[in-house]
Amino acid sequence: MGIVVQKYGGSSVADATGIKRVAQRIVNTRKAGHDVVVVVSAMGDTTDELRDLAEQVTPLPPPRELDMLLTAGERMSMALVAMAIAQLGHKAQSFTGSQAGVITDSAHGKAKIIDITPGRIENAIKDGAIAIVAGFQGVSQDTKDVTTLGRGASDTTAVALAAALKADVCEIYSDVDGVFTADPRIVPAARKLDRISTEEMLEMAACGAKILHLRCVEYARRYDMPIHVRSSFSQKEGTWIIPDAQQGAEMEQAIIAGVAHDRSEAKITVVGVPDKVGEAARIFEALGATEVNLDMVVQNVSAASTGLTDISFTLPRTDGQAAMSALARIQDEVGYDQLLYNDQVGKVSLIGAGMRSHPGITARFFAALASAGVNIEMISTSEIRISVIVEEARVDEAVRATHTAFDLDSDEVEAVVYGGTGR
Ligand code: ASP
Ligand code: MG
Repeated sequence: MGIVVQKYGGSSVADATGIKRVAQRIVNTRKAGHDVVVVVSAMGDTTDELRDLAEQVTPLPPPRELDMLLTAGERMSMALVAMAIAQLGHKAQSFTGSQAGVITDSAHGKAKIIDITPGRIENAIKDGAIAIVAGFQGVSQDTKDVTTLGRGASDTTAVALAAALKADVCEIYSDVDGVFTADPRIVPAARKLDRISTEEMLEMAACGAKILHLRCVEYARRYDMPIHVRSSFSQKEGTWIIPDAQQGAEMEQAIIAGVAHDRSEAKITVVGVPDKVGEAARIFEALGATEVNLDMVVQNVSAASTGLTDISFTLPRTDGQAAMSALARIQDEVGYDQLLYNDQVGKVSLIGAGMRSHPGITARFFAALASAGVNIEMISTSEIRISVIVEEARVDEAVRATHTAFDLDSDEVEAVVYGGTGR
């Protein structure tokens, strides 16, 4: 039988009991005849605690040193899991990201994987050992310094490693039973999906679903790696994320996969922009230079009497300050009236590949929002997604109303959150 890569999140290895439970599960997979490679996250909230600690020492930790500190979290879990497996009488060896051959660029805190050379992992497997790899970290090709891949990126380590090792499947274990049609904390009647396509999962992750790291889904799509998202606290089948290439024609596609939401964005409006050729380019060039990631962009029809228009866009709240300063600097040049900043907004997205062939989805979505009394501030769409910006305080209602309107509600409560502090 082939290689299985299993990734265990922080809540699954939060304490000694959790580590022993996970070790037993890994050993069971090994006994079933698979070669097993495991990727672990830091225990519980360790990464946040290490960050807090750094901030107590200095408000601006040097990025190289911060990465050095944060990667220690995953090192703790990998060694403890290896010890727990040894205690069960099986061979295990732990490896840092660098030892596992995770080669990255040198952007500390958000490094990108550029290559994986898993020679030592392959040797460990040949020796009959279970390899335990620290997630979320690598080593820079240029500087040889230790890097981190961004918050939540152990998922990405797991899928990238699975692809490099040509594993049969990448299993991602967390504290919920799989991918749900909406966040169960907001919609208790959310349903677990048995399967979802990678293109739908990409949209869900990009629109705020936190169950999987966006980059890990991109990897899975690029390398056709099936992912099985499941709970480490139960034996239930989770959700299979099926690469588009392996999507059988016989597979019946639900129209809607789910409703995602995101409270991490802000909206900026540039008011009174002269409606002339080149003004939008000037505004977005200034924003581009600050490397701000824009999401939705809307330009209103200009009022004939004034020849002025408003341009609104959304962006991550964390980029809000940088974007406002960049725009303030070009006020005279562009000649706009004023800037408005609003971070009391949320994005609600309806996702489903079946939208392509079913008319009327937009009308049903907007009708659901209207009957819940939720006002739509901005709209954007892709082939398989419709997103709206609404007032932040109305996000929960909007998600629930949409979930109900598309008959996604389950009769029973399916979602159990087994662990974690939700931090
Ligand atoms: N420990 C890291 C974090 O909390 C990576 C991960 O959990 O995937 O962001
Ligand atoms: Mg974590």
